[in-house]
Amino acid sequence: MEEKMLNWLYKRAELTPNRIALQIEGQTWTFSELHQNVRMLAYRMYGLGMKKGDHVAFLLNNDLYTVEIIHALTYVGAVVIPLNTRLSRQEIAYQLQDAKVDYLLFDQEYAEQVPEPNGKGLSVVRVEELYRTKLIEGAIQTEIDLNQTFTILYTSGTTGKPKGVMLTYGNHWWSAIGSALNLGLDVNDRWLACLPFFHVSGLSILVRSVVYGIAVVLHKKFDAKKVNQSIKEDRVTLISVVSTMLSQMIEDLGDSSYPESLRCVLLGGGSIPQPLLAKSKQLAIPVFQTYGMTETASQIVTLAPEYMLDKLGSAGKPLFPSQIKIVDGDREMKAGEAGEIVVKGFNVTKGYFGNEQATNEVIYDGWLRTGDIGYLDQDGFLFVLDRRKDLIISGGENIYPAEVESVILEHPAIEEAGVVGQSDPKWGQIPVAFVKVKEGQEVTEAELISFCKERLAKYKVPVSFTFVDELPRNAAKKLLRRKLVEQLQSK
Ligand code: ATP
Ligand code: MG
Repeated sequence: MEEKMLNWLYKRAELTPNRIALQIEGQTWTFSELHQNVRMLAYRMYGLGMKKGDHVAFLLNNDLYTVEIIHALTYVGAVVIPLNTRLSRQEIAYQLQDAKVDYLLFDQEYAEQVPEPNGKGLSVVRVEELYRTKLIEGAIQTEIDLNQTFTILYTSGTTGKPKGVMLTYGNHWWSAIGSALNLGLDVNDRWLACLPFFHVSGLSILVRSVVYGIAVVLHKKFDAKKVNQSIKEDRVTLISVVSTMLSQMIEDLGDSSYPESLRCVLLGGGSIPQPLLAKSKQLAIPVFQTYGMTETASQIVTLAPEYMLDKLGSAGKPLFPSQIKIVDGDREMKAGEAGEIVVKGFNVTKGYFGNEQATNEVIYDGWLRTGDIGYLDQDGFLFVLDRRKDLIISGGENIYPAEVESVILEHPAIEEAGVVGQSDPKWGQIPVAFVKVKEGQEVTEAELISFCKERLAKYKVPVSFTFVDELPRNAAKKLLRRKLVEQLQSK
């Protein structure tokens, strides 16, 4: 069944042409200007030979042209495939092949990561070339179909190889609507974007901008000082960040505070250390914890503002049209009982591109198995514990590495921590920790063990601490516990 509506930028340029759509380093563009530029760019894409239904990937920085390219691809009706710029050439080659990409647009900066043409119909085009291509005027897709695939976004590859998540226009639309029904909407809202557009957390800000008619204040790179300055000077009302960013922002903030105009700091992307939440609470920073994944087109569970203080540590309740259950196999868990988080909603993907097996493993009866463990409290608030694959079972007791890591991070000398299970003949598994010490600080294993003993049940205390210079992370900067396990096995 077709479910059509006008293209969002097209409609927005008609509704509120003179509102600011985008601000970059003091320069602004209205929706009308953005639409004009995007239309010209779509004609250049036609000039290159692109057509409706083509798969177009990009390796680009967060910049004006990236915003234009994303919208122009919707005018052409092509499927948008943003690639992580931190990936190696080999990883990029895999994703290009996996997503059956026809065109790859790239910044010169990433030229070395661009694979050689393999004769399988992939064209690679530098951004400068695209902008110099002769225009061929053609009909732009002023209508979109909610069931049409808008993006194929790759998961971060934390638990295994990244998977290409298909998200339709409908998935993105409902994600934007669900977010607004929770966070509210003000015509003067301005969303600061400093997360890359190759993650759904960054890309979804662009969708919200055109659907809501609000400005995006774009930062090409995350710089805590500049972000703090921009929040104050550019009347930013909302910002999306991950934990490490917020920590740096708080450090830079020093004794000053944020203006009241900042009404939401959307914090998600991974487990959030308790000390960071406590610090934010103390500084009265309006943090909204959120839980989501590529498969849910960003947030699916977010804490409503009135519960920010009472439910510290909770990711909240499912956004308006979505549902959540905690299950163990077929059994639905009661309040307080931990199990796998499964979700359902219009923002949830129909599956992984070209990978029916992986799709069937996670989708059943309209529900998506997230692979994450959590529980709902008596009031229905979600608490995310950890990934199912990383769970440590020691003497029959469950240990969630994120909880232990969070405690270790409270130690003033520790910068990063990773906890995994080591096989043990007596207990099955025992927790062990890997830590990175802050520059100029010193701490011993014995000290860390006793620090943890004061704060954790005995079975959760890591039996050993290995000091490392760096913890293994993927291109999304997420901790790769599976690499730590490999390290243990090779010892
Ligand atoms: P892959 O699926 O390839 O293993 P990934 O799951 O890290 O990678 P993403 O879609 O980028 O890829 O990340 C979503 C995951 O991030 C969630 O499934 C969850 O494990 C974690 N996450 C997101 N928000 C939170 C949160 N608030 N608390 C704890 N974990 C979170
Ligand atoms: Mg995942």
